[in-house]
Amino acid sequence: MKDVFATRESEVRSYSRTWPVVFDKAQGSWLYDEHGKGYLDFFAGAGALNYGHNNPLLKRKLIDYIERDGVHHGLDQATSARGEFLHALDETLLEPRGLNYKVQFPGPTGTNSVEAALKLARKITGRESIISFTNAFHGMTLGSLSVTGNSMKRGGAGIPLVHATPMPYDNYFDGQVDDFLYFERLLADSGSGLNAPAAVIVETLQGEGGINDSRAEWLRNLSELCERHGILLIVDDVQMGCGRTGPFFSFEQAGIEPDMVCLSKSIGGYGSPLALTLIKPEHDVWEPGEHNGTFRGNNPAFVTGAEALRQYWSDDALRDSTLAKGERVARTLHELGAEYPGLVSKGRGLARGLGFAEPEMAGKVSKAAFDRGMILETAGPQDEVVKIMPPLTVTDEEVEQGVEILRDSVRAVFA
Ligand code: PMP
Repeated sequence: MKDVFATRESEVRSYSRTWPVVFDKAQGSWLYDEHGKGYLDFFAGAGALNYGHNNPLLKRKLIDYIERDGVHHGLDQATSARGEFLHALDETLLEPRGLNYKVQFPGPTGTNSVEAALKLARKITGRESIISFTNAFHGMTLGSLSVTGNSMKRGGAGIPLVHATPMPYDNYFDGQVDDFLYFERLLADSGSGLNAPAAVIVETLQGEGGINDSRAEWLRNLSELCERHGILLIVDDVQMGCGRTGPFFSFEQAGIEPDMVCLSKSIGGYGSPLALTLIKPEHDVWEPGEHNGTFRGNNPAFVTGAEALRQYWSDDALRDSTLAKGERVARTLHELGAEYPGLVSKGRGLARGLGFAEPEMAGKVSKAAFDRGMILETAGPQDEVVKIMPPLTVTDEEVEQGVEILRDSVRAVFA
């Protein structure tokens, strides 16, 4: 194929430049290039492909729906696909967890979910500012970008960071600072001109920020702190939701109930755009039509999303296997950490990372893995973390294959 990717596409094209092939087919945990060479996909669309590529169970439903001329585009009209999706959400996720949320379809992608949550929080509280965290990633539209703690991503385009505070993940303060006291004082310090924020937005485990996990106790403290100050708590589960950390929601292990939850990526099941904002019923103060858009309901994604919920979340099997496979990956990461001082094992469930003291090493490992037939992305402010995020449906054999390629790649880079 003519290299239109070099000649015609914008320079903004990102990490995928390090995978200099044209992908043509995909199945399960595998991507295939034009010549039929297979690559083990441990990137999985940055969490958009938790059920694998072209998952046969979901594909069947999609084909049937298209063949029967089911409504394809329907704005926010009531359709049977939309109704079925809402039912599945109720039955498989909300009711079993005793959770009560209204569901907004804010637009096609993750950033749309964040925008809706930020706008609604400001409307509810009448306050303007939002607190987010260092290294947070919430999306690339102006609102979500203004709470994204990465100056490079703000593109030098004069988009200020609304207000970021250090997120005490991974021993951020080296145990020297009581991070909660720090946070309390920050909120109490109105004399410095920090107005009480409308909301705090947090990823319980930062994906793009470098697989930075938060402690369950910290999340509980954060939730209580928000309640005390009348601040809404928004959990951005766009990347870490849909089972990536084991349980469906990444905040379940902390036992908190955020005021709003942002979901996208794998919620449509098949890798096509769908986003939701879950809103506690008392906060659903939208007026009809106050937040709209053309692609607020992707009907084929409702069909595959509903089927994914029924197939994978009617019991705990996927959660348990994700946790077990995650532990298996972590074992290799710890071994590599013991073999090469400076390497750090990070993450939870099947959101894993290998942190490097020298950032360029992470890129080299990603390249070495590609040469050995595996797709690995890097993350973190300096791209210093190799991210290990296979589909949750990855087989045990593929996990073994993947961790061996990773080990070989690390050894090759340090040789
Ligand atoms: N929030 C988080 C936590 C994300 O990881 C991402 C995407 N990487 C987004 C929001 C934005 O989602 P999208 O790219 O679909 O707009």
